[in-house]
Amino acid sequence: MKNLHKHNFGAGPCILPEEVLDNAAEAVKNWRPTGLSILEISHRSAAFEEVVKETEKLVRDLLQVPHNYSILFLQGGASLQFCMVAFNFLHNSGKDAVYLDAGYFGQKAIKEALFFGPVNVAASSRGAGYTHIPKEYSISADAAYFHCTSNNTIEGTEMFRFPETEVPVICDMSSDIFSRPIDISQFDLIYAGAQKNTGPAGMTLVIAKNDLLDSVKHPLPSMLDYRVYRDNGSMYNTPPVFAIYAAMLNLQWLKNKGGLKTISLENRAKAQLLYDEIDLNPLFYGAAERYDRSLMNVTFRMHDPGREADFLAFAEQNGMVGIKGYRTVGGFRASLYNALPYESVRELVNCMKVYAEKYHR
Ligand code: PLP
Repeated sequence: MKNLHKHNFGAGPCILPEEVLDNAAEAVKNWRPTGLSILEISHRSAAFEEVVKETEKLVRDLLQVPHNYSILFLQGGASLQFCMVAFNFLHNSGKDAVYLDAGYFGQKAIKEALFFGPVNVAASSRGAGYTHIPKEYSISADAAYFHCTSNNTIEGTEMFRFPETEVPVICDMSSDIFSRPIDISQFDLIYAGAQKNTGPAGMTLVIAKNDLLDSVKHPLPSMLDYRVYRDNGSMYNTPPVFAIYAAMLNLQWLKNKGGLKTISLENRAKAQLLYDEIDLNPLFYGAAERYDRSLMNVTFRMHDPGREADFLAFAEQNGMVGIKGYRTVGGFRASLYNALPYESVRELVNCMKVYAEKYHR
């Protein structure tokens, strides 16, 4: 049973549906198909092979992934993808890779890519403190690929439009995948660390167009070669069994709820409630430009920064968890992932109102 007095706004790992936690906990004790704990079973067992297949099917159905794309389960988090993408598609290509620099994680992706070849930064909002997504830029037709981050988890900005280009589009969707419908055919490769809307930490989801994977001509170490995962059904080595199992439960929950259309309406309503309060409350203001505001990670500050520690303490006393902004950014960040109830946002808004009444007469 969860502690109902806590409201978990953590940025990831983050809140998961209670039913998922209950079912995962039960499977840790006794996973019915086997009579063993899910932690004890062989990844080669028929029962677990079914789990991998079912998880893949859920990803395909929920996101309507076309048949010419493979769905892969890896490890190493989204951070390993920063390097793997470039090792596979930039290394030895004789081309530049084009990156959009719109936040902390995009920066990290650029840093890793530079180990493998030249990077051309199409546009950057760094000078503006990453408070918006750059819009004006061009992508040269002979680039190896274009890389972007759909949701900047730390800065609280989100991309709702993606460039149309002939070059492969690669997107880090770690923090907004499964939060809303998305047209997968706009992308050639998507990657996402699981620990937001996919499931617990430990698994990385990759959705890749087979043509892109097959275009790689240079040799790669097996564990860094996407085709090895594809050709071995994500079982070249021991996969993160429990993380995949819990992701399956979480995606089943999402499907039973009505899928991405339903959840995106709920997510919009939660974000609207909080942004409205941020805009109305005299003590607070939004950190990101309005038109790029993230629906998943709401960043905000106080006009008087000297009050931030006091408000944080007040909010924590009232059961709010994980609203402190990222260490390099400060202020506040409330993450509104799929499993966060509307009521939690209402409680946070209430805290902001009560605090303002107390201190701003
Ligand atoms: N990219 C984005 C957008 C993220 O939000 C995160 C983590 O929060 C990462 C990359 C890094 O992910 P990981 O910790 O799984 O390597």
